[in-house]
Amino acid sequence: MDCIFCKIAGGEIPSNKVYEDDSVLAFYDLVPQGPVHILIIPKTHIASAAEISADNSAVVAHIFEVAAGIAKEQQLDNGYRIVTNIGEDGGQSVKHLHFHLIGGRQMAWPPG
Ligand code: 5GP
Ligand code: ZN
Repeated sequence: MDCIFCKIAGGEIPSNKVYEDDSVLAFYDLVPQGPVHILIIPKTHIASAAEISADNSAVVAHIFEVAAGIAKEQQLDNGYRIVTNIGEDGGQSVKHLHFHLIGGRQMAWPPG
């Protein structure tokens, strides 16, 4: 399968890693939308959050544990945002589940 995040998870394409374990990888986004912009992905291919089920949801819980740790390390004590885009209307461009962890600036609501 021609999936850029599978290739990043497999080390085929280099990334600027923030955190890695057996099931999860976190790396800096190529086009940062804030002073801190990190992507957190499962190493296994899940197309989007719409594909989360009882069979694969454990890694999602783990991703949120990892995210909390990264946010502390990055000293985002004043808050931050975790977002996942789904499908066309959601603005998803890479079809491999990923959570954006963005911080270091005031976020707008509602999102554009
Ligand atoms: P989406 O639009 O699917 O929610 O987010 C995809 C994100 O992946 C974008 O923020 C984009 O900048 C980032 N991205 C796309 N290709 C690469 C890449 O090869 N390396 C890294 N580090 N980020 C990427
Ligand atoms: Zn993939």
